[in-house]
Amino acid sequence: MIVMKFGGSSLATSDALTRVAGLIADRADRAPVVVVSAMGRTTDGLVAAVDLAAHGGLANARRRVAGIRGDLLAAAAPVLADVAGLERLVDAHCDELDRTLAEIAAADGWSRPRLTDAALSHGERISSLVMARLLGQRGLDAVHVDARDVLVTDNRFTEAVPAFGATNARLDRLVRPHATAGRVAVMGGFIARTGDGHPSTLGRGGSDFSASIVGAGVGADEIQIWTDVDGVMTADPSVVPDVRLLPRLSFAEASELAYFGGRVLHPRTVLPAVERDIPVRVLNSRKPEVEGTLIVAACPPSDLVVKSIVYKEGITVIDVRSTRMLMAHGFLAAIFEVFDRLETAVDVVSTSEVAVSLTIDRTDRLADLVGELRRIAEVEHTGGQAIVCLVGEAIRDTPGVAATAFTALRAINVRMVSQGSARTNFSLVIDERDVPAAVRALHAAFFETPAEPAGA
Ligand code: ASP
Ligand code: MG
Repeated sequence: MIVMKFGGSSLATSDALTRVAGLIADRADRAPVVVVSAMGRTTDGLVAAVDLAAHGGLANARRRVAGIRGDLLAAAAPVLADVAGLERLVDAHCDELDRTLAEIAAADGWSRPRLTDAALSHGERISSLVMARLLGQRGLDAVHVDARDVLVTDNRFTEAVPAFGATNARLDRLVRPHATAGRVAVMGGFIARTGDGHPSTLGRGGSDFSASIVGAGVGADEIQIWTDVDGVMTADPSVVPDVRLLPRLSFAEASELAYFGGRVLHPRTVLPAVERDIPVRVLNSRKPEVEGTLIVAACPPSDLVVKSIVYKEGITVIDVRSTRMLMAHGFLAAIFEVFDRLETAVDVVSTSEVAVSLTIDRTDRLADLVGELRRIAEVEHTGGQAIVCLVGEAIRDTPGVAATAFTALRAINVRMVSQGSARTNFSLVIDERDVPAAVRALHAAFFETPAEPAGA
């Protein structure tokens, strides 16, 4: 049994839909369970419609829905034999969506997240129904399963947290039997339902997480994340021209990458898979012959010490300086207590005898944080910073990584340095404006053979 998850861009056009149906048909002997995102940019469109409805423009919101309807039909109608049936399906969803948008327009702020999730659910509901029909047309025994009947979450709408016990029981009852009987179950990612019956979602980009939950729950042999890139790269290809594909990554490396801005996987995606030791493969739906990146619990030794260079912009550095000469004991505890109380996560920390610097990426409580910290210390903060992070499990036992990094960055001002406690990463904090130059220099130092001297 395998889980095959397809992202929105793999489902955006008629050609893409046909390609995906072919990929699934080719793997029918592996008992696939299919998890799909909403087609193309549907969810972005739905978010925009919700926003318009909430802020007084119900007519504009409805126009947005008409646009979404047009895009969906343009992609799906050419590939489905029963076009009238498709139109009925999409129209029924748009009618329901219209009613939800009207409720959103009339609602108080308090019930808005719940109604938002109801509105957003249509993207994955439609895409999964379309894919089930398309597979049926190809002669596969495909069954649509409403993911909301399967994934159970708490009530944190728009970022709901799965209840694994209840979800796994339902996967066992509603999904696994299809796969064992040779039927292809097709379900939407991202969407779920609360224990008391309201549609919920797992947060933007949550379909990967759904795939991982489903794969872990049914005990799949492999979870395939089909995207529009070849796999996980040694750096962001939009910054470094000659990136390489990484054939293998460990789970620890993959979660570090995801957290620090690797754009391929959702950070939480790997967790359920890690726990069940299920390999996750990232593949390109446009180029299925490319082997992609395999993420496994433990990787065989590799000649790459650093596997990938990632970065996260929009970071604020907070420098806290003890007003006494030395940091008294209890000083760090007092500082972290403030961050904890104001629910702000800290990414990188470095300390010296008299000062501690910390980075945060959420600044909504910055004023409160600074106010509270000023009661116990001198505080300065600087926005517009970035964390550049070298990821690789071998970093922990390889001498010279820091030296190579600093040599590569000799022209760049490095504000903070930290080696993560799991020691799968080495992070540097620099000015956001230096990111492209820094990432290119580090990539050259760790992955590229030395250039011939110019003019030689
Ligand atoms: N459709 C959702 C989104 O765009 C979930 C996903 O694609 O993973 O965020
Ligand atoms: Mg996605």
